[in-house]
Amino acid sequence: MIDHPFFQEALPILRKLEKAGYEAVFVGGAVRDFLLQRPVTDVDIATSAEPFEVKQIFTHTVDLGIEHGTVLVLLGGRGFEVTTFRTESGYSDFRRPDSVKFVRSLYEDLKRRDFTINAMAMTEDGKLIDPFNGKEDLKKKIIRTVGSATERFSEDALRMMRAARFISQLSFELDLETKKAMQELAELLSYIAVERKLNEIDKLFAGTEKKKALAMLIETGLFTYLPGFYAQKQVLQEIIAFPINSLSEDQMWLLTAFMFEPDQVKEFLGKWRMSQKRIKRIAKGVHALKRFQKEGWHEVLLYEAGLDVAKDSAKVASVLNETTFSVDEVAERWHSLPIKSRQELDVTGTDLIKWAEKPRGAWIKECLEQAEKAVLTQKVANRKSEIERWVRACNLL
Ligand code: ATP
Ligand code: MG
Repeated sequence: MIDHPFFQEALPILRKLEKAGYEAVFVGGAVRDFLLQRPVTDVDIATSAEPFEVKQIFTHTVDLGIEHGTVLVLLGGRGFEVTTFRTESGYSDFRRPDSVKFVRSLYEDLKRRDFTINAMAMTEDGKLIDPFNGKEDLKKKIIRTVGSATERFSEDALRMMRAARFISQLSFELDLETKKAMQELAELLSYIAVERKLNEIDKLFAGTEKKKALAMLIETGLFTYLPGFYAQKQVLQEIIAFPINSLSEDQMWLLTAFMFEPDQVKEFLGKWRMSQKRIKRIAKGVHALKRFQKEGWHEVLLYEAGLDVAKDSAKVASVLNETTFSVDEVAERWHSLPIKSRQELDVTGTDLIKWAEKPRGAWIKECLEQAEKAVLTQKVANRKSEIERWVRACNLL
């Protein structure tokens, strides 16, 4: 028996497939993380049943990628990915198999997986199926390809990035042959779509051993094939000398964009095809950090940055050892700002027009901004009557 709620919930699926005469097991990351006693977030199920057979057995299914053999089985309000055992062949573009073939053998399915620690399966009663000695590598904390590293990385070059992110997530070491192959084949990473690279870098940046993983990217030359990283070897070395392991993924992007000093931060992040929302947020953080260095944390800067961006910038500043304020102190100072947004200002454009008895114009925006600053810096209280007196005294109307 597997004593874990996620596996328990999925047991009925395995049992039903087996009852129908098929083989069904847990595979991949969930098995690895379960053995490592790390949190398991989702379980993947592999089966000898073909997708159409899986769909016959379960009433509620969603086609996730029939050509890859994946069907989502809905059970008890949750979805479980059930994937048919398959082999892949002919990777003529270093990233995708030319053909995927469904097979009835679990061994063949495990053999096509990237690393030994990811190529284990577990049966319903908790028995481990481990033809490539993944458990031993888990114990030794080693990342080793299944079979020839040169072949496996030539098939799909993204696997080299996956190795780097597992180093960051698990704090493992690279097996020697695996590492040598990476040094030789790093260039193949240029064939990989940037979205897939971003996915792995994000996981690397979210892991706890970023230093070690980034050092590996430098040592193997893989960094060269990451957008905007090409000429940054020295800066990357500077980055890993900072205590970066405690940063979040977006804080890591903030630090990277800050240290690389690209002409345009948004353009650098855009090369990674991040969402516009994310790009904006990170770029705002870089801007806040630069201003903080020149001006220190003052009310207007805190206000314009907003709480989350200010906290991220403060955290990165603390890693750069450049701050007189901790993240908590910066948050506290933000919370004690007299206003947090323009909406909270006790005066509007309509008030100004009424007071000035003049038509609308660019003067309104300017006057509101001045009033906003005055309130923030506590030159005037955030009360309509006080603000009116203040704008009149300053001849702003
Ligand atoms: P995570 O915890 O991030 O989900 P994971 O190991 O489950 O880690 P997934 O991307 O979810 O990673 O992939 C599930 C499994 O599929 C892996 O454990 C591995 O066995 C296999 N796999 C994924 N990507 C590849 C690849 N590029 N080449 C070979 N096998 C792969
Ligand atoms: Mg997974």
